[in-house]
Amino acid sequence: MWKGLYFAVARFVSGWPRRVSVVPISLSSNGPNGWRSAPTISFRECCGHVCEVGSDVDPALMNAYVAVESHLACGQCQLCRDGQDHICENLKYVGIDIDGGFAEYVAVPVTLLHQLPTTIPIPSAAALEPFALATRAVLDEPVRDKSMLVTGLGPLGLMTMLIAVARGAASITGVERNPHRFQMAKQIFESVPNAAVIDSSNPEVTGTVAQRGGGSGFDRWVDWSGAGQALELGVSALRRGGIAHLLGSAEGPVALPLSQALMKEISFRTIHGRNAEAWPIAIELLSSGAVDLNPLVTHDLDLSNYRHAFDLLLEGKACKVIMTPNHLESR
Ligand SMILES: [Zn+2]
Repeated sequence: MWKGLYFAVARFVSGWPRRVSVVPISLSSNGPNGWRSAPTISFRECCGHVCEVGSDVDPALMNAYVAVESHLACGQCQLCRDGQDHICENLKYVGIDIDGGFAEYVAVPVTLLHQLPTTIPIPSAAALEPFALATRAVLDEPVRDKSMLVTGLGPLGLMTMLIAVARGAASITGVERNPHRFQMAKQIFESVPNAAVIDSSNPEVTGTVAQRGGGSGFDRWVDWSGAGQALELGVSALRRGGIAHLLGSAEGPVALPLSQALMKEISFRTIHGRNAEAWPIAIELLSSGAVDLNPLVTHDLDLSNYRHAFDLLLEGKACKVIMTPNHLESR
């Protein structure tokens, strides 16, 4: 059962209602910031089948196909009581505070599971946690017939563009500096008539983006980079009264062209995690086929091949890496 695994340290936490047999987990190219040493098993993006339930859980849930929410709320604080448990005052995280999906099995509270239809392919299901975040970012404001700018085209930026296309945005413009990511984004969106991908290392980027925004500028802008250059570009490219969603994090403070933003009366929003509304919409987007995440999956590796997976990501040669515990081979 444990053959050849490097991370076969699965635990069952007493009193918790469910254990999930992890099918693939997904690793993202967002960089090593989320990879760290801790006394818990890493990684939060995973899906699987329920293989054990606690005594207080409906046994009919055995074998359910599920994805895992990574935010573990306390359920007691004022924010939880107000329905804002995604920013719970005592928030804990799967893969940081409790064991995550980098294992054959993971034990999680029943409240974190989302049942999935089998029409969602396993690699997409493994990436549902970030996909639901991108879904929330896009649908936080109306998107149909709007022009949208997306800065930072890692997996989340690409998901954002795909969702905006599916939800009827008038135009979608993505901006990326990393050459591998830029080329990949270009490939994915080259056949989408109202989408364009722009290389932000080009000195003409500001003018090129402004052209895509038309005379008045973009209606919406979603940033996943947290980079100062992207913030400057986004504020410049938004129209008066435009809406900015900032989801990229930075190592330290970054400059924001505040005067320009103020003159345009730009609305800034930040988002941390998926709320209750985002999950069912994200599941529907994938199960209906409105969004296909397969183009983002560049590698599908055995879990024991983790070193190669990390190298690929650190070298910028991968987007989504799906990793499957090798015990599934014998099933
Ligand atoms: Zn709480």
